Amino acid sequence: MDLDKRQRAMLREMGVRLWQPPAPAAAPAPAPVAMNNIAVDARTERAEPRFDAEVAPARGAPAAPALRLVPAQAPVSRPAPGLQPRPAGVERMDWPALQAAVAGCRACALCEGRKNTVFGIGPAAADGAAPQVDWLIVGEAPGENEDLAGEPFVGPAGKLLDNMLLAIGLQRGHVGDAPRAGLSTSVFITNVLKCRPPANRNPDPAEVAQCEPYLKRQVELLQPKMILALGKFAAQSLLQDSVPELHKIPLGKLRGQVFRYLGVPVVVSYHPAYLLRSLGDKAKAWDDLCLAMSVAPTVAHSV
Ligand code: URA
Repeated sequence: MDLDKRQRAMLREMGVRLWQPPAPAAAPAPAPVAMNNIAVDARTERAEPRFDAEVAPARGAPAAPALRLVPAQAPVSRPAPGLQPRPAGVERMDWPALQAAVAGCRACALCEGRKNTVFGIGPAAADGAAPQVDWLIVGEAPGENEDLAGEPFVGPAGKLLDNMLLAIGLQRGHVGDAPRAGLSTSVFITNVLKCRPPANRNPDPAEVAQCEPYLKRQVELLQPKMILALGKFAAQSLLQDSVPELHKIPLGKLRGQVFRYLGVPVVVSYHPAYLLRSLGDKAKAWDDLCLAMSVAPTVAHSV
């Protein structure tokens, strides 16, 4: 991949050092940035800790559990007082109806504590239509900043995510924003959960099950060319029906492969909040982006 000055600066900020090829030897040197590096070093593998680095874990808190299985069909019991069933017909909704359904959703207790629902962010769309994007980024759940702003990934992890996207020529598309020169806004950013779990705790399987139809419908309407699943909750939500024994597989082992969700290629990578704490793994995240780019290259708009 040819990188310009801006991209190199972004990568420096991400902590990614570009590999310089050694002097030519008998065997041909690998490409400077591995586009399809699918090797996972089992020796350095470890369970990904809690994702949201924007809130320090409580002192003495137990270690984060290993991958948790989100049941494909978690039992949905009658809603508790104040809650209502998820709006019917999500699977047939158009984009504005889906946005309205999420905004008014009271299907799980997270609605009690939220300031805003966080549907996602992407470029403007024609009336009634979903934005036209090539990439869909799926994170875990809104944190405090996102709950206040009603927008995903606006805290420190979001800044890192924005820089990672810039490095591959993508710019978060605020409605009405023109893309910067050489960048494409062909990306929609969302989360598995549309409401903030209290104190940024991990999503509960029942909450994931309630929110899942919204994410599924977003994928159906957006029809992205690539889904980047950031962290284990995104990976579990998207791959639970296609990867056997998913709950037993550490996140690192899901990297380096191209899965499918509703026919769309899915690449799994580390959550940016994890990367903020584990600088050494940023280079692996860059490998993941390169793999995703090799499947769905970003094409900048001409400005
Ligand atoms: N972490 C996430 O997974 N999503 C956000 O929107 C913010 C932090």
